[in-house]
Amino acid sequence: MRYTSTRSGSATGAESFCEILLQGLAPDGGLYLPVSYPQLSSQMLEDWRAVLEQEGYAALAARVLELFIDDISPDELRRICERAYTPEKFGDPQIVPVTRIGEGQMWLGHLSNGPTAAFKDMAMQLLGELFEYELTRRDSWLTILGATSGDTGSSAEYALRGRDRLCVVMLTPAGRMTPFQQAQMFGLDDPNIVNVEVDGVFDDCQDLVKAINADAEFKQRWHIGAVNSINWARLVAQVVYYVACWLRVTTGPGQQVSFAVPTGNFGNICAGHIARSMGLPIRHLVLATNENDVLDEFLHTGVYRVRSAAQTLATSSPSMDISKASNVERFIADLFGRDGARVRELFGQVSTAGQFDISKTSQFAQIGPEYGFVSGHSHHADRLAAIGRLWREHHILIDPHTADAVHVARQHLDGEPMIVLETALPVKFATTIQEATGELPPVPARFAGIEGAARHSVRLGADAEELKALVVRRARRQPAMHASATSPGGNS
Ligand SMILES: *Cc1c(COP(=O)(O)O)cnc(C)c1O
Repeated sequence: MRYTSTRSGSATGAESFCEILLQGLAPDGGLYLPVSYPQLSSQMLEDWRAVLEQEGYAALAARVLELFIDDISPDELRRICERAYTPEKFGDPQIVPVTRIGEGQMWLGHLSNGPTAAFKDMAMQLLGELFEYELTRRDSWLTILGATSGDTGSSAEYALRGRDRLCVVMLTPAGRMTPFQQAQMFGLDDPNIVNVEVDGVFDDCQDLVKAINADAEFKQRWHIGAVNSINWARLVAQVVYYVACWLRVTTGPGQQVSFAVPTGNFGNICAGHIARSMGLPIRHLVLATNENDVLDEFLHTGVYRVRSAAQTLATSSPSMDISKASNVERFIADLFGRDGARVRELFGQVSTAGQFDISKTSQFAQIGPEYGFVSGHSHHADRLAAIGRLWREHHILIDPHTADAVHVARQHLDGEPMIVLETALPVKFATTIQEATGELPPVPARFAGIEGAARHSVRLGADAEELKALVVRRARRQPAMHASATSPGGNS
């Protein structure tokens, strides 16, 4: 399988999986996609049904990944998946259990049982293993630099902690995360994890990351990389749970299900689009946004209009508070038949005018009928109502992001099973849960006492030179040095 950019659109110069694994954007500013999607037959899916039942989620993941990765051997992929998806890390032998809500049409696909209680662990745990594999093969090392206001940072840190060839420098705005999120990140004390509290807001953190990346020489010298949501490997990891959920809810070939997805950056649902394009029998992809409804607006009007930071609302489903949805470029590339020039033109308009308008194109009219997308949005009160109702009627507790999708899913029920993807555990959003149900959410055993643990972070002014000095001090430029740390004086 070869990969190419959304903006070049042809297979010329296409690269292999391992070549693009450690990269973010393609050199032309586009996002990587496989030149074509592998196709699933009914027979293959039925074989996988047996694989999932008899050998488990990691074995299924290896089968799906094999279709996209031909430069890691199937045996090696299997070992990588088995390390990434263990019952210990995911607190459940099924990794992604699927449960039915009462006797109705709605199901919950539980993606949030990983180490940080958010669905990003599904991709990040695999990414950690893949990065380690590839860096070892190249005998190289990497400094992951990122800014986070919530789930991505902690998910990356839990996936990369303790890895010799990697160091994570994660910037957060001082005092702005929830107490639980702070405890989760700052509770880590691994030598390769550096939590940086920046005196400023999230945009200041992002500006610092941009400043470092703009210094090409520094970037190259210190092997600066990222784990953001445009990384292709994250998407491919997510395709696996669409297949697993489908297998758990259906009983035989060809049965249709729909998925409802709490959406921010369009990463999760983009994996659903890929699974559907591969032939997984998905009727609707129900895209649910909160008050930040860039994508709901796009699907209804054909106008993709990004928002400024000031126009981006802080809501009770904070991981969906986005002003633009990076991964949407991948869907646009598919919609326009991989016409790279067209994609470049449209996203050029986003850069210059803040929007593009495809309402008059024949492609726009196909988004529902051909690609299965429908959409809706929720407000705070809708999410509270959804949480309260599921709690009262079924004694099921969901988080505000999942509640958003439950709210929108109800508007699109059509007789087929509707799998709502649960993207976080309620414990992360205790205040909203209490507002909805009158009670605090239960704290899973593995998070008990976390808010009382010692904190490890470095305080920094919003100053790029200070940050560079920190990177230089903490980067793992020579993993071999780590190995020789036991010899006298080796740990200088
Ligand atoms: C990241 C996140 C989302 C949004 O997912 P995208 O892939 O960005 O669309 C939704 N819910 C939770 C809890 C998240 O952490």
